[in-house]
Amino acid sequence: MSTRSEGPLGLDDDALAACVACGLCLPHCPTYRVTGLEFASPRGRIAAMREVEAGSMPIDDSFERAMTECVQCRACEAACPSSVPFGHMMEDTRAALTEQEHGTSASRPRRALEWVGYRLVLPHHIVLLGATWLLLAAQKLHLVPKRLALPALSPRSLARRLDVERGGQPHAWLFTGCVMDAWLRDTHRSTARVMRATGATIARPGAGGDCCGALHVHAGRREEARTLARRIIASMPGDAPVVVNSAGCGAAMKEYGVLLDTPDARAFSARVRDFSEWVVERGVPATSRSATPIVVQDPCHLRHVQRSHLAVRTALGESFALVELDDDGLCCGAGGAYAATQPELATAIRDRKVDAIRNAVGQPDPVVASANPGCMLHLRAAGLDVRHPADLLAEVLDG
Ligand code: SF4
Ligand code: SF4
Repeated sequence: MSTRSEGPLGLDDDALAACVACGLCLPHCPTYRVTGLEFASPRGRIAAMREVEAGSMPIDDSFERAMTECVQCRACEAACPSSVPFGHMMEDTRAALTEQEHGTSASRPRRALEWVGYRLVLPHHIVLLGATWLLLAAQKLHLVPKRLALPALSPRSLARRLDVERGGQPHAWLFTGCVMDAWLRDTHRSTARVMRATGATIARPGAGGDCCGALHVHAGRREEARTLARRIIASMPGDAPVVVNSAGCGAAMKEYGVLLDTPDARAFSARVRDFSEWVVERGVPATSRSATPIVVQDPCHLRHVQRSHLAVRTALGESFALVELDDDGLCCGAGGAYAATQPELATAIRDRKVDAIRNAVGQPDPVVASANPGCMLHLRAAGLDVRHPADLLAEVLDG
């Protein structure tokens, strides 16, 4: 049985010892690729964690910076031959840093802003919807800078409720989430359209089933994430699959078993499916064939965490000519709230992805498929036409 270190981060001893410093993960790390710095690599971050745990390095600004600049894409974890569980080590480290920050005067304005986002807006869907209407008004008045990775909101879409009932005993649950429902509800309409085309009855979660807590886990706010996870589990009872069209949310929900460590949470996690994964299991509905080539961009949480990115190709392959990228699934720099908290690094990482996408098809305006709202919005902000696989499938279903 593994033990926890007695150092200030309380990391798993076996996980810390597992890294043999081979460096095979380095080419897969987006922050190492754009900075070339060991401190911004997985190996360097693990070495810093070890030193802090051993007491030979303080938790200072440079340590915090090395940790907060990690996109948490987990590409290093997928590439590591020693199976170092980097994602959970980084989540533990962030949680320790967040806890130690409480009660200090450090970064008061930032902490106040985080409190509003994580405690007030994300878990209370009504507040998020109200904030979205305010954002829409600001967009109409041209008060929102175009460089921010925000969607072009539509009052028509926002005012129209999603035609999926809450609760019941469906064949499958359609998880609607917080930001997806507020900002990308048309993608939920496409998802519902495709799910129903397979012959399935669908329902959305009951009360409390809005925010999955993925962003909270990333930010080290684990207790809040646990509370949200319990609410999500209670909102979708029974055995029916839980279909998630946001790769980041799906990854977090597939890890509820680890987060809560209960039989119920593990059973719930086993029911979670990415949208494309579920469609392939259920049988891809017949569609017309489109002549548009589609570049497939794998969200990190679909490829490296859920490891179900191949299902997107099966779901779309009959309807579209798919184009693969040759960058080994390198991160696009969206990373949950990363594009907002680390804009310079996020942009530098995105530039490489945009080049890879344009080079893959040899044209400046390709259509890109991406199954994660963060990646969609981040790449759209760079001028690309990015669509969700559900939107693409719904379009060819409708001819
Ligand atoms: S994390 Fe894995 S791949 Fe990276 S240096 Fe350590 S052992 Fe090697
Ligand atoms: S999670 Fe991503 S950004 Fe962080 S160290 Fe690993 S590869 Fe680099």
